[in-house]
Amino acid sequence: AETAQFAAAGSSKAWAFYDASIDPHRPERLSLMGELREAITQGHLELYYQPKLTLATRHLEGVEALVRWNHPQRGLISPDVFIAMAEDTGNIQHLTRWVLGAAVTQASRWHEQGLNLSMAVNLSAHDLSDVDLPRYLADLTDLHRLPHALLTLEITERAVIGEFESALRVLQQLGEHGFQIAIDDFGVGQSSLSYLHRLPVDELKIDQSFVKHLIDDVDDRVIVRSIVELSHNLGYKVTAEGVEDEGTLHYLSSIACDHAQGFFVARPMQARALHDFVATQIDS
Ligand code: C2E
Ligand code: CA
Ligand code: CA
Ligand code: CA
Repeated sequence: AETAQFAAAGSSKAWAFYDASIDPHRPERLSLMGELREAITQGHLELYYQPKLTLATRHLEGVEALVRWNHPQRGLISPDVFIAMAEDTGNIQHLTRWVLGAAVTQASRWHEQGLNLSMAVNLSAHDLSDVDLPRYLADLTDLHRLPHALLTLEITERAVIGEFESALRVLQQLGEHGFQIAIDDFGVGQSSLSYLHRLPVDELKIDQSFVKHLIDDVDDRVIVRSIVELSHNLGYKVTAEGVEDEGTLHYLSSIACDHAQGFFVARPMQARALHDFVATQIDS
């Protein structure tokens, strides 16, 4: 029997009921894995888009693409579950390329419609050992006539730490093509700043764990303020993730944080819902 719970392991994700019965250590994981390839070809994967706000102007800067698996029997499966599976079983390249294809197609559609939105896509550690990725992305974006600067690639500190030199080469090439590079979940990784500064970074995204309770927690405020200052001193833009209330948004504005993302701004949504969101932005 399936036990749909309100949240995936650890973090509360109030926007959807995930199937929490998928234990990564159980055999059914293998059958699910076999299904993932099929899911991609059968169109059971879908991208949701979470808006990112520019705090100074309150304008929509762009969106982050977040993948969902609409499983015919199990319902919505969290990327936290199947991304890790895809990594472990060598299917991540296939998945990443599907995500990139869908995200770039959507971004170029919005671009044609005159919406000037950036598109951010999450990469996993394995993607940074894919030496063909920069060429692949350049061809893909050119085919869809998407300006390279509108595409941001989000990577975690963890993703570069293992094979630093080869990841560095891939990131340098992505940077040379004019794609933007963001460090995701900043602050919870273990990389040193000297390593980080060798990467062609454009943006730091402050992990939600520091943002969530900053209104009640003076330590979190000190950390967030310090990361904003550090980012600006290094010439990076900075985004706060996990903004869940107005007070937090207000505080972030007051410390000159560049961008904000979180349920208070908007939840991840389907492409057609984003049009309505943009319309309400313009009205207000
Ligand atoms: P992430 O990149 O850090 O994405 C942010 C996650 O936090 C998303 O969960 C989003 O729905 C959730 N979130 C956003 N705002 C709030 C908020 O205010 N409060 C709370 N509690 N949560 C918020 P999601 O979509 O379940 O994705 C989980 C992770 O899965 C992502 O974390 C990312 O690491 C990974 N992921 C998602 N899509 C992809 C993808 O296409 N490729 C790869 N490689 N990884 C992906
Ligand atoms: Ca991300
Ligand atoms: Ca750059
Ligand atoms: Ca994040």
